[in-house]
Amino acid sequence: MSKVVIKECSSYDCAGLIETINSGMELLGGWERFVKPGMKVLLKVNLIGPKPPESAAVTHCEFVRAVTRILNAMGCTVWIGDSAGGAIAGMSPTALSFEISGMNKVASQENALIKNFDTEGTVETQVKCSCLDKLYLAKPVLDADLVINLPKFKTHSAAIFTGAVKNVFGCIQGLRKAQYHKAAPVMKEFGKVLADIHEAAAFGLHIMDGVTAMEGLGPTAGSVYKANKILLSTDPLALDAVAMKMIGQDIKSAPVMQAAVERGIGESELERIEVCGDYDKPPVLPGFKVPKVIANMRSNGKIFVKVIDLMKARPAIDMKECRQCNMCVDSCPVQAIDRETKNIDYSKCIECLCCHELCRYKAVELRRNNALGRILFKMTGTKRNRR
Ligand code: SF4
Ligand code: SF4
Repeated sequence: MSKVVIKECSSYDCAGLIETINSGMELLGGWERFVKPGMKVLLKVNLIGPKPPESAAVTHCEFVRAVTRILNAMGCTVWIGDSAGGAIAGMSPTALSFEISGMNKVASQENALIKNFDTEGTVETQVKCSCLDKLYLAKPVLDADLVINLPKFKTHSAAIFTGAVKNVFGCIQGLRKAQYHKAAPVMKEFGKVLADIHEAAAFGLHIMDGVTAMEGLGPTAGSVYKANKILLSTDPLALDAVAMKMIGQDIKSAPVMQAAVERGIGESELERIEVCGDYDKPPVLPGFKVPKVIANMRSNGKIFVKVIDLMKARPAIDMKECRQCNMCVDSCPVQAIDRETKNIDYSKCIECLCCHELCRYKAVELRRNNALGRILFKMTGTKRNRR
């Protein structure tokens, strides 16, 4: 049986975080079960782009500080690593993201090393999914003695939720992520790439930063929600299953999770997951908003899936909000966005929603192009957890 520990934590005060994380780890067998002095431990953070910690788009730097201090005290060498999403002027914005997120400052103050995955080399690994020949992972992921995944608790406009399973996509270097998106354009296929990453690298532990979460149009354009939770597990799928239950969603309704479920990356059945810590079952997050488009998606029922297809939205750029930064243009895996006009060529667009995900100015809207879909969408409305 998989175990997910849920702890209450209402602030990013470092001492409080350390105490809470340590008490959660006790329920997983204690740090000593995972860590020995002298180990190189990589903290795989969520650094989706150049976002400050208070945006709730990235793992909070104080959360990373707390885990770093714990590991330093145990005699480990700590690495903080990721590769950001998207591109600015044809370059991955990882270095900028380490700076704006506060990770550089934390690393220098806490004697940790920043591992910018874009500049650390890659290692070729095998894949099972048919959309890729080979998988290239950032070298530090395989060089570390232990990788601790530190995902952020966030909604995702295309995938419903992004947590422990999806956070590993940052192990793919820089602009190669766009190639993989292009090779696996639908969420179900993309989920197979994520499952391959989980199988290729050993993520020993998953500690989710849900002190502040992102609700609504995540993973970057949503709003901050004070969830006051930290989730810990050795099982990424169980952790996400519990987190999704907290926002009223079933993990099996998310196509991106399907491959992880089928390949047994972890446990997805809630009745086979032990919840412990401050709760013995997943607590509902009151009033939490999930992305409107997928709010009512269900895994069962082909008719319902067809209805959802009708309601699917595609990106459109609001020129009144656009600041011409070209992040969307440079990040689009199929070059569907015109650099001058910002018109989108929908005959090329694979609806990966990277442009929506990465626009810092919330200028990429999701619009339903189907009249019936618009009516159905209005009828279903925004899904909120009950207060
Ligand atoms: S839509 Fe957003 S990402 Fe694209 S150019 Fe405009 S501001 Fe930049
Ligand atoms: S236009 Fe946006 S949604 Fe379409 S392929 Fe490009 S990045 Fe993806």
